[in-house]
Amino acid sequence: MNHFIDVILPIPLEKSFTYLITAAEAEFLKPGMRVSVPFGKSKIYTGIVQCIHTKDPLIYEAKDIHQILDETPIVTQAQFRLWEWMANYYMCTLGDVMRAALPGAFILDSETIISKNLTLEINEADLKDDEFLIFEALQHQTSLKIQDISNIVDKKNVLPLVKRLLEKKAISVHEEIFDKYKPKLVRYVKLQNKFHNQDALQDLLEDLSRAPKQRDVVMTLFSLTAKSKKPIPVTDLTEASNCSSAIVKSLIDKEILEEYYVQTDRVQYNNHETEGSKHLNNAQEVAMNGILESFKKQNIVLLHGVTSSGKTEIYVKLIEDALTQGKQVLYLLPEIALTTQLVTRLQNYFGEQVAIFHSKYSSNERVEVWNQVLDNSPKAQIVLGARSSVLLPFHNLGLVIVDEEHEQSYKQFDPAPRYHARDTAIVLAHIFNTKTLLGSATPSLESYFNAQQQKYGLVELNTRFNDVLMPDIELVDIKDKHKRKRMKGHFSDRLIAEMSETLEDGHQIILFQNRRGYSPIIECQTCGHSPQCPSCDVSLTYHQYRDQLRCHYCGYHSVMIKKCEACGSVELDNKGFGTEQVEKEVSLLFPDYKVARMDLDTTRGKYGYEKIISTFENQEVDILVGTQMLTKGLDFRNVKLVGVMNADNMLNFPDFRAHERSFQLLLQVSGRAGRTDKRGKVLIQTYNPHHNILQQVSTNNYLQMFKEQMDDRFNFKYPPVYRLIKITLKHRDYNKVNVGADWYAKSLRQVFKQYVLGPEFPPVSRIRNQYHKNILVKIPNKQSLAKTKAAILKINTSFSSIKDFRPIRVILNVDNY
Ligand code: ADP
Ligand code: ZN
Ligand code: ZN
Repeated sequence: MNHFIDVILPIPLEKSFTYLITAAEAEFLKPGMRVSVPFGKSKIYTGIVQCIHTKDPLIYEAKDIHQILDETPIVTQAQFRLWEWMANYYMCTLGDVMRAALPGAFILDSETIISKNLTLEINEADLKDDEFLIFEALQHQTSLKIQDISNIVDKKNVLPLVKRLLEKKAISVHEEIFDKYKPKLVRYVKLQNKFHNQDALQDLLEDLSRAPKQRDVVMTLFSLTAKSKKPIPVTDLTEASNCSSAIVKSLIDKEILEEYYVQTDRVQYNNHETEGSKHLNNAQEVAMNGILESFKKQNIVLLHGVTSSGKTEIYVKLIEDALTQGKQVLYLLPEIALTTQLVTRLQNYFGEQVAIFHSKYSSNERVEVWNQVLDNSPKAQIVLGARSSVLLPFHNLGLVIVDEEHEQSYKQFDPAPRYHARDTAIVLAHIFNTKTLLGSATPSLESYFNAQQQKYGLVELNTRFNDVLMPDIELVDIKDKHKRKRMKGHFSDRLIAEMSETLEDGHQIILFQNRRGYSPIIECQTCGHSPQCPSCDVSLTYHQYRDQLRCHYCGYHSVMIKKCEACGSVELDNKGFGTEQVEKEVSLLFPDYKVARMDLDTTRGKYGYEKIISTFENQEVDILVGTQMLTKGLDFRNVKLVGVMNADNMLNFPDFRAHERSFQLLLQVSGRAGRTDKRGKVLIQTYNPHHNILQQVSTNNYLQMFKEQMDDRFNFKYPPVYRLIKITLKHRDYNKVNVGADWYAKSLRQVFKQYVLGPEFPPVSRIRNQYHKNILVKIPNKQSLAKTKAAILKINTSFSSIKDFRPIRVILNVDNY
C-alpha cells in the first residue's frame, strides 16, 4: 500500500497537490506540518500537509517530497476550517489563503531571498558547519537566493538548513527595509563623571556663581537625581528648573553635563506593574450588562457607542472575563489605531499578556507572535492586531472584539483572498463556539441592519464619558463666503476666528482634507491641458514639497513642469487642493504656531504614524493637518477644534457607499474634538450646507442617516439588502477587455437576468497600463449564495478556456467594498 499526502502550496492552484511518502513518513506526518516539495520543472515550495491518505492521484504520478520541515503542526485544525471557509466564500484558492496567513519566513521557496540578520550578534561557535558556510557567505554578499545556497553547500534540499538559520536568527528573509526611526528615542542628561565627588561639585557650583541660570539647572539636576534613581529626561529637567533647553545645551557644550539617548522598545513590554481596570460609570455599566444579557441569546453583539463614550473600558472588562476563564482574546483594530496609544493602554491593564500583530511588523516578528499564539504562551493571551491577525493559530479563543467595525480597511482589496476581517472574525469565533463584539460610533449599514434584523444583539451607549458634551458642529457655507470675499485661500473667516481663539487658549487643532499632495490637477490656463500619468487614466497630483508630479495609482513621478507640455504656456493653474497646500496656508496664516501633516506621504516606514502621533500628543505641534488617517480611533487630550476643509468631494464620490462613508468619516473626525472636559467645536466647510448627510452629521443623527441610506439601498438593490460580487477584467489591450467583458456579462445575464450590471469602466479605467472593466452581480437575499458562486465559477471556467480571453486577468471580489 502506498502512502500519500495532499499538500497546500502557496500558489493559486485549484486543488491541493498529492505527493508520495514512505510508511514511516506517513506515521510521523500530521496535517498542519510543513514539507518542502518539488513542483513543475525545477521549483521548490514549502507546502502545508492537508491530509495523509492512501489514494493514488491516478491522473499524474505523485512525486516524492524533499523534506519534512516541522516536528509538530504549525497550522491548526481550526485554521484549516477557517481557510476552507475563506477560499469558498471569497472565491479564491487555499493557496491564496495560505500565503496571506503564513509569515513569509514560514514559506520559503526557490525564489526566496535571504540576507544577514543585522539586529543580532551571532556566536559563530553555535553554528554547524553548513550553517557557518552560509553565514560566512553573507558577510561578503548582501543577499543570497536559495539556489545560491544550494550551490554553496552542494546539496539539493537546503530549506531545512535555511530554516535552522532562521531559527537561530542568523539570517532573515528579504523584505522591505523599514525606517530606522524609533519614536521613543528619549534624550537624557547626567552630570559628567568627574563631578561625582563632593569637592569637584562644590568647585563647579562656585565656578557657576556668575551664571545663575546654569547653576540652577545643575542644582535641579542634582536634586532630581537624589529623589529618583532613574535617568532624567531633558524635558523633565527644563521643566523642573524652569529654564530653556538652550541653557542645558550650553552646559553640555561646556562638558559639565553629558547627554545620552535611550531607546525604549515598543514591542518589548518592560513595565511589570499593571493597574486595575477602571470602575465603569452608570451608562457603561448598563451597556456592559446589556452586552452580557445579549450574549446569552446571541453570538454577535453590536455596541453602538458615541465617540469617547468609554467603549474601550468596556472591552477591557470583557477581556478580563475571558482571561479568567483561561481563554485567548482577539482584539481587531484598523492598522493606524494600533499605535502606542491603545497598545500602552491595554498593556497598563494586562502587561505582558498582550501580543501585537500588524503589517508593519517584519516577517521575523510575525513568526514570533505566530509561535506564541500557537503555543498558547502567556505572552499572547490577548492578540491586538490589524486585519491579518484573524489568521493566527488560536487555541482556545474565548472572545473576539472588532473595534471600529465600520472601517473599510478591514476588507482586503488586493491580492486574494479579498476577505473582510470583521466577517472572517465572526466565522472564526463561530469555529471556537464563542462570542464576537462589534464596536463603533458609526456602525456600517451592514452591521446595524443585521442588528435590526435581530441577527445581532444591539447595545447603545449615547453619552460621552464624564458627560462631556458631543462637539458642537457648525456648517460653513463657503459659496457664500467666496461671494462675500470672506475667504483667505481655503480658509473661511469663521474657521480662522475659531482657530485663533483655540490657539490663544493653548489648545490644539486638527484640520481634515481628504486628499494628499498640494493640488490634484495642474491645468494650463491657455489651452486647458493637464498632465496625465503615462500609465494610468488620471491627472498627476502636484507635490510641492518634492517639486514633483505624482500618480496616486501607480507611483509614477516626474519633476514638476515649468510650462505646458502641449502649448508651452507658463500660465499653469492649480485645481483643487490637498493636505500639503492646507499645511502651507496654515503656516502662513499662523506663523507662530507649529504645524504637522499626517498622510500617506509623511507616515511611511515602521514608525511613521507613531512619530507624528507622539509629537502631537506631546503638544510639540499645535495644528495637525491630515487625511482620513486622522479619523481612526485616536485619542488626543487637548484638541478642541476640528476643521473640515471641504466636505464636498467625498460626498460626490461615485460609489453607492459614498454617503454612508462621508457620514462616518465626518463624525469620526469630529469625535477627535473635546474628548476631556471642555466641549469641542467642529467647523465643516462646504458648498452645500443643506446636504442631508451634512445635516445628519451636524445633529449627530445616525438613525436618520441609516433610514435614508437604507431606503436607497432597497430601491437600488445594493448591500446590505442585496449581496454583491464584483468581477473585474484586466488587460493592456482596450479591445480585448471590451470584447471579453461583453462575453462575460452576456453569459452572466443568461443566468442572473436583470441582476447583472455592466460591463462598465470604473472612473479610473486604466491603471499601470491595464484597462479595467467591471461587472456587478447582485444577489437577492433568498437566492442561494453557494449556487450563485458555482454558476459564476462555471462561467469563469468557460471564459478562460476561450483562447482569446485566456490572457485577460479576472478578479472576483465578494462583498465588494
Ligand atoms: P471610546 O473607545 O468610546 O472612544 P474611550 O474608551 O477611549 O472611548 O474613553 C474615552 C476616555 O474616557 C478615555 O481617556 C478613557 O480612559 C476615559 N474613560 C472611559 N471610561 C472610564 C471610566 N469608567 N473611568 C475613568 N475613565 C474612563
Ligand atoms: Zn497649454
Ligand atoms: Zn499612474
